[in-house]
This record gives sequence, structure tokens and C-alpha cells, in this order.
Amino acid sequence: MNQESRVFSIILLLQVASRRWQGPFLETRTKGFVSLSDHSVLFVFIDGLGIGPGTKGVNPFAGFNPRVLRLRADALGPFPRGGICIPTEATLGLKGLPQSATGQTTLFTGVNAARKLGHHLQGFPSPSLKEVIAQESLFRKITELGYKVTFANAFTPRFFKHRPRWVSTTTVMTETAGIQLRDLNHRSLFMDFTNRFLRDRGFEVPIRSPKTAADVLVELTATQSLCLYEYFLTDLEGHRGSFDSAVELLRQLDQFLDSIIESLDLGRTSLVISSDHGNIEDMSHGQHTRNPVPTMIWGNIQQIFHPFSAGLRLEEITPLIVEFFETSHDTT
Ligand SMILES: [Zn+2]
Repeated sequence: MNQESRVFSIILLLQVASRRWQGPFLETRTKGFVSLSDHSVLFVFIDGLGIGPGTKGVNPFAGFNPRVLRLRADALGPFPRGGICIPTEATLGLKGLPQSATGQTTLFTGVNAARKLGHHLQGFPSPSLKEVIAQESLFRKITELGYKVTFANAFTPRFFKHRPRWVSTTTVMTETAGIQLRDLNHRSLFMDFTNRFLRDRGFEVPIRSPKTAADVLVELTATQSLCLYEYFLTDLEGHRGSFDSAVELLRQLDQFLDSIIESLDLGRTSLVISSDHGNIEDMSHGQHTRNPVPTMIWGNIQQIFHPFSAGLRLEEITPLIVEFFETSHDTT
């Protein structure tokens, strides 16, 4: 090892030890060196999924027997294939009900966006939150480390033709990291992974079972270092649905997640499932909740999350995923 690489190694070790992000330095050091690591991550983001009391007729997780979504506060787990679930504080330390724009910005950047604004913000990110996402996002950080990153969700032709004025946190994150959005022709998965929503609107796409949809996502993940899939029907259901329709939706989602977990090579690919705030776990009203959200982890990334197994805060998730990529780079 020459003098220069010895200095680099020492700096990298110090950096990993201090868990501080110094993007431009690492970017220079690693670009062109690593594109696909031996350790990849599939991140499934599920909107509006909290851990609440298992009250009958209120919490739809008590309305069936899930294999993966065993998320009642009074009966958390066990989870298949050694999965763990860490209850995650999602109120961001502020009063009021947590909301999507601030929750998702926090989840995907590690910056407490509600504290930054002084309040929770619903819907899509404002210009100042977009700025935070552009600078601090998970996609930006992992891309700058030299890894291949994708957003698995499919966008309809209408989105590309008549771009909406307001776009989601994940859309902003993808575009500002210089990553292409996927259309229906790419290997991609629609937000309704069964494609029924698209078929009802005249698109000629195949209806997918939860298992087939899971296969598409697992195959796509195999070509990437970090792959994100966003599912937000849970939040819509929590706002507008009934207890029975919520049970049906979660039953399908549970089969989808179970198929992913069964077919992933967990020695190579880790799985992270998390949410931005509670909602669907309490069908007694149509609002978000202040309940903790689950952060569910499978595979090698568990090592990074283990010290936090008693509890996490939403802003800790992105830094921990970044740390996983930094440390796995160190050993490849
Ligand atoms: Zn909502």
C-alpha cells in the first residue's frame, strides 16, 4: 500500500467511525471504482403504515393472519426468515399529526424536515423541502458513492406529457439525483402492483398476482445496488376506506411482501420496509396517527440497525442505509 492509499484508508475509516457524510471527497475517491456492490438493498416504502393497538374492528392487522405484517403493538412479530421490526418514532418531535411531505423528506434525507419548517406539511414537498431533498437525499448519497440506484415505480405517459405541478418526494429525489424515471414499458412496477388501476383506465398491461409483481421487483433489484419501491394505497385506504376493504388491501400487500422475502437471496440483498406516519392501523377515523411506524429489516443490513433495535427516529434511517453502503464498500 503506497502512502496515498494509506492516507485514504485512514480517512475512510475515520469517516465511517464518525458516521459523517463528506460526499464530494468520497465521490472523487470511488467514482468509476464501484458500480454494483456485493451487498444490495431493496427498500419498500409503504405510506401510512403504523403500529397501533390490536383493537378488533379498528386495526385491520387484527382482521386477518398476516405472515409479514404482524404489526400490532400488543403482538409484534415474529417475522419470516429472521426479519426484525424496529418501532420508529414518526412525530418528528412536534405536536399535531405527522404528514407526508415532511415525513417522507425526513425518511429519505435524514433531515428532520418538520423541525426545519416549524410544522408538519402534508402532500408534496414545497420548494424549500425540494432543496433539502436535492442536497441530502438517500439517492444522491448512494449515487455519489458510485453505486447504481433506481426507483422501481412506473409512471404513466400522462405524467411525461402533462407533468403535474406538484410531484412526490420520491419523484424529486429520483430526478435531482440524475436518475431516470421509469415508464410502463421499462421493467417497472406500478404503484398498484396488480395493475388493476391501469387496466380499469384502458391500459393494455397484464394483471399481476402479488407473487408475479414481487418477481418483477426482485428481478429489477438484482440489477441494482439500491432499488426503491413506493406503495401508497395504504394511506389512501386509511383516509377513505372501510375496515373490511383495508383488511383486503393488507392481505394482498402481505402476500406481495411475503413473496419478496421468500425469493430474495438475503445473503446478497437486504430488505428494508418503512413508512412515513401511521394511518391504516386505525380505521376508526380517516386521519393519520401519531403511532410509531415499523422499520422492518432482513439480511446483512441488520448488523447496522441492531444497535437501534429498541427504537429509531425517522431521520435515522437514511444515515444508517448510507453507513451500510460505506462499510460494505470498505470490504469489497
Ligand atoms: Zn395521508
